[in-house]
Amino acid sequence: MTPPTVNAYYDPLKNHMVFPAGILQAPFYSSSASIAVNLGGMGMVVGHELTHGFDDEGSQFAGNGNLENRWSPEVCERFEKKGTYVVNQYSSYEVLPGVKLNGKLTLGENIADLGGTKLAFAAYRALRQDAPEEIIADEFTEDQQFFLAVGQLWCSKSREEYAHHAAKVDLHSPPNFRVIGSLANLPGFARAFSCGPGKAMTSANTCEVR
Ligand SMILES: [Zn+2]
Repeated sequence: MTPPTVNAYYDPLKNHMVFPAGILQAPFYSSSASIAVNLGGMGMVVGHELTHGFDDEGSQFAGNGNLENRWSPEVCERFEKKGTYVVNQYSSYEVLPGVKLNGKLTLGENIADLGGTKLAFAAYRALRQDAPEEIIADEFTEDQQFFLAVGQLWCSKSREEYAHHAAKVDLHSPPNFRVIGSLANLPGFARAFSCGPGKAMTSANTCEVR
């Protein structure tokens, strides 16, 4: 990737993550944004790439990049079982009328989104735990600012034809479901916005892959 590219990746062969300068700017990161906003933005992206090292593909590589399963059969079995919950959750989403999201195709990216959002939220909380007071911005609490930043990362608009094509071939879920899918599994999100059980963005069976 070239320096101005707005993207990031994890390479299991080299066991490293790459973030070009292009992504280290708003809305992902800004030196004038709050910790909550930067962690909901760039923090989520870093957590996402880190989690790729442990998704259905990255988990098959050892730290030195060799294709080598380093987990015990019991761990593999548990991992696969947890993965099926994620597949079922995302497969229930409708991208367009009559077109369902392919939870199997997008599993690795969805695991990375779930793990990335969870890790970034924990990191933001840890960074702010000794803060003398909470910074309220536009009447939003810091937790709410974090989740709004996650949502703002994936603002997008596409033609129906593109959305239809992407639903068949893109390894990523459509942007709105990247947000809804991961936040629905975070109890911290439900608490921040007082979402009770059964609400649109609260999962009945929360998925967690660990
Ligand atoms: Zn990814």
